[in-house]
Amino acid sequence: MTSIKKTDTELMDKVVRLARNRGFVFPGSEIYGGLQNSWDYGPIGVELKRNIKELWWKMFVLERPDMVGIDANIIMNTRVWEASGHLDSFNDTLIECKKCHTRFRDDDLFVYMLSEKGKPRSTNTEELLKELVSFPCPECNNVGEFTKPKFFHTMFRTNLGSIETPENTVYLRPETAQAMFVDFAEIVRVSRKRLPFGIAQIGKAFRNEITTGNFIFRLREFEQMEIEYFIEPPKTKKDWEKHFDHWLKEIKKWLDVIGVDKNRVKEVEIPKKERAHYSERTVDIEFQYPFGQKELYGLAYRTDYDISAHQKHSGESLKYRDPKTGKEFVPHVIEPSLGVERTILAVLLSAYTEEEVVSAKGEKETRIVLKLPSIIAPYKVAILPLSDKAELTKMAESIRKELIGDFSVDYDTTQSIGKRYRRQDEIGTPYCVTVDFDSLDDKKVTIRDRDTMKQDRVEIKKIREYLNKKLI
Ligand SMILES: [Zn+2]
Repeated sequence: MTSIKKTDTELMDKVVRLARNRGFVFPGSEIYGGLQNSWDYGPIGVELKRNIKELWWKMFVLERPDMVGIDANIIMNTRVWEASGHLDSFNDTLIECKKCHTRFRDDDLFVYMLSEKGKPRSTNTEELLKELVSFPCPECNNVGEFTKPKFFHTMFRTNLGSIETPENTVYLRPETAQAMFVDFAEIVRVSRKRLPFGIAQIGKAFRNEITTGNFIFRLREFEQMEIEYFIEPPKTKKDWEKHFDHWLKEIKKWLDVIGVDKNRVKEVEIPKKERAHYSERTVDIEFQYPFGQKELYGLAYRTDYDISAHQKHSGESLKYRDPKTGKEFVPHVIEPSLGVERTILAVLLSAYTEEEVVSAKGEKETRIVLKLPSIIAPYKVAILPLSDKAELTKMAESIRKELIGDFSVDYDTTQSIGKRYRRQDEIGTPYCVTVDFDSLDDKKVTIRDRDTMKQDRVEIKKIREYLNKKLI
């Protein structure tokens, strides 16, 4: 079999189509016309998502003595967002076309200006804004009909309790990180961890983005997997760099385990003028998506900025007391920040494969196969009785029951066996176990490998052993 090369736009369309057809991801609220780039995870997608989150938790929390997890409230005291700076500065700049009322983020519009015909002379923001008067709207083509840039707050606002007053205004968290800082002293007390150690959290965050899109890339409701790794105030650059390098390596290891295509990953050093003012170093892990090279993950050394800010605003001491020396200090922080949906998108784009194969009738055909690492595959094994005759389904059902405690198992009796193999290939199931009429006599089944399509005849009592060996 040979792999078929695809252009990137084709790849995106194909992955979106597969995600929909096989029940990974589809538009939310669709019977009501959908809701601006909201997506629901279907029966297959939810398993992939759970596997990714559970694997992350296992690798970075359960298997490490220097990590603990939390699960904090999405709505936090508004003063948290005052202290973190989100309330003042969590804005996007919005420019609206006066004719068609399409709203653009200023940076999206500038990218468009720079890429379109009649390139502007300057890349300076002020200059670009001046030149906007001679540019056509990307939506309606009217020239120069733009409003002045307006700030637009990107935190979702709601109301706590029944009375709508400014005092009751609360926000949905725009990141999971802050709870790890706010709860720091309490976590040190109950976990009895000593520096260096980290706090991890997986959870939803919300940003009222002006523009969303590119499937599940930019969303208003999304999930993060974040770590705040606390270290002693560094005496030299090396003291924090060793932790930074460690986490950079860990991110690369993670990408490898979940099967993200290395050739599409780039490490981008963020220059000082583009970093948050408190960050001493930020590296973005970018991915070559079909729509361009964009952020997948971020790693930042945030100094002691966060804990200090919460200490100042709350008036509470969040200092760490070294049990050996008795010295008290505000710890510094390294933050590896990962998005769940972007991970899923990168994984799907990396795993999607088309191969030319020869069918049983000798005809060339295209096979779509999602080459997911088995550790994150929605199902590890599918049990497929050749027909729905009672003697076969009875045997297949008993095999399913036998395996279900050890593996996530799909069970499918519909359609021809060829179509069922095709479905399992497309959802990335590493092994298919077929129960046929010979199985009734020889007590053996056929086990088919997703990637090689090779088939082995295996004794029923040895299926578990066979799969255990293969699925390591
Ligand atoms: Zn317009």
